[in-house]
Amino acid sequence: MTLFPTELPVIAVSRCLLGQRVRYDGGDKRQTALAEHVAASLPLRPLCPEWDAGLGVPRPPLRLQHWGADVRVLTVVGGLDRTVPLHAACLRYRQMLLTVDGLVLKSRSPSCGIDDTPLHPPPPIPGEPAVAPATGPGLLLRSGIVPDTLPRTDEQRLADPLGRERFFTAVFSHWRQRLAVTETQWQQVLPLLQQLISAS
Ligand code: SF4
Repeated sequence: MTLFPTELPVIAVSRCLLGQRVRYDGGDKRQTALAEHVAASLPLRPLCPEWDAGLGVPRPPLRLQHWGADVRVLTVVGGLDRTVPLHAACLRYRQMLLTVDGLVLKSRSPSCGIDDTPLHPPPPIPGEPAVAPATGPGLLLRSGIVPDTLPRTDEQRLADPLGRERFFTAVFSHWRQRLAVTETQWQQVLPLLQQLISAS
């Protein structure tokens, strides 16, 4: 039986992972498994906070920086603060994120990273101990709009068989609860779940 897209789990994906040339250097980070296999199976919602913030392509690269008790997004060269437009772009995803079942984001990105984005220490203050460099989520996941229960991963974890199985199993479970799908619908999508887990 053919399933309509409205009857399937939905995933939000970083645009650059789908091959869209929106990165700061005008390039992309296309992942074939996502751009072809997953895109052919599930409805996708592309997002790119930096592009949607109007920062342009190409644009100066950004970094996350401790700023007192806060975290800001600054240009690597010159330290121009881009936090406000980026935060506004993230807030515009709020409604969309309530209608998806998973997030696949670009690792280490100051905007999209899940938990491995470099976080640069604040400038040293004379007489106080230096703050060590750290890693953490990018601005999207710091914005407070991503539901805690929404499964998320990045392209590196998705390339790992166990990571892929965990992610897609969580996505399908989220969809099952979000739409209160019937047992019949659930049985219909199980082969698709198995196919997504198996695809490399
Ligand atoms: S990592 Fe995120 S902000 Fe950067 S180009 Fe990709 S989608 Fe856009």
